[in-house]
Amino acid sequence: MANENKRDYYEVLGIDKSASQDDIKKAFRKQARLYHPDLHPDDKEAEAKFKEVNEAYEVLSDADKKAKYDQFGFAGVDPNYGAGAGAGGFGGFSGFSGGFGGGVDDILNAFFGGGSSSRRADPNAPRRGEDIESTITLDFMDACKGCQTTVQVNRMEHCKECGGTGAAKGSSRKTCPDCNGSGTVRMTQNTPFGSFAQTARCSRCGGKGTIIDNPCPSCSGRGRVRNTIKKTINIPAGVYDGMQLRIRNEGSQGINGGPAGDLYLSVRVRKDPIFERRDTYDIWTEIPLTYAQATLGARIEVPTIDGKQEYDVPEGTQTGTVFRMRGKGVRKGNSGERGDHYVKVNVEIPKGLTKEQKELLRKFDESLENKNYKKRGTFFDKLKEKFK
Ligand SMILES: [Zn+2]
Ligand SMILES: [Zn+2]
Repeated sequence: MANENKRDYYEVLGIDKSASQDDIKKAFRKQARLYHPDLHPDDKEAEAKFKEVNEAYEVLSDADKKAKYDQFGFAGVDPNYGAGAGAGGFGGFSGFSGGFGGGVDDILNAFFGGGSSSRRADPNAPRRGEDIESTITLDFMDACKGCQTTVQVNRMEHCKECGGTGAAKGSSRKTCPDCNGSGTVRMTQNTPFGSFAQTARCSRCGGKGTIIDNPCPSCSGRGRVRNTIKKTINIPAGVYDGMQLRIRNEGSQGINGGPAGDLYLSVRVRKDPIFERRDTYDIWTEIPLTYAQATLGARIEVPTIDGKQEYDVPEGTQTGTVFRMRGKGVRKGNSGERGDHYVKVNVEIPKGLTKEQKELLRKFDESLENKNYKKRGTFFDKLKEKFK
């Protein structure tokens, strides 16, 4: 990758100059996930993209380097810029939770084995299609129980018109006359030190060895077209807000017979008025109790994701008490296990009592003794002790 062809760091991360550090970090994670070498073994293009993304992040996440870059461009952050040397190393950074522990240096070394910047991909080699991203928004219950949903996917597909060859109907690719199909040409360069023979990629066919005289009008000879399709996806039970689902082979279709990329679905889950998800698979509900229900005990109806369930609140339940209903929470994918349902009960103090009601309550209150309370007696004992 020559320095001169470097893409702007903001462009690489898909953000603009006003992006906050938080935005930069988010954009980096998103991009790094897309091009992570784990997902694209032997994919030179993804490897280059991954490096590019890491480099952009290394600069933009560092206030000092970012300021220099903003002012001077690449020259401000890379002393070798313009001298033809490869980009500098990638500094360690923290905060990336994409599944590996070490710094980026380790990752790059592990995957790329040091400097390998000038390898050029064979234009006829199979290339994996690009991964694509989309977002789905699910109702609370659908996320808990799983559902079937339709997503609109915008991806590159093999051109049906030409069968992916890029040549117009009735024609076909033909051997490149400049290189006779080899994809390379020999050039002799005369220098003051003598003439040198060099092999270079054929510029006419780009190294493919074949050319198209009659490009397919539908794909302009590229062999793939951008299509927007509707895809029905089975969403498993237990997906949660902020998670990303990977749907294999539903990304863009490959090139030269390469496999398709993957579709990454970012999941958003709408809020529910009575249920709240916590710790991924647990559900919480708050239920108001009357003073009498809490005091006497009561059978109450608890809404769960399976419907209403009866629950016996014991006598003398304090406000704020949390009850757990085991296994009534969200299903953990296909494991068969479920989280729990938690019920928090709050005693609601009645307002706007009539004179008679107030009188009854006063009488009732006066009939109570300290032994009816757990904390009251001890509290006033402590108070007496403190101020005696
Ligand atoms: Zn076509
Ligand atoms: Zn050629």
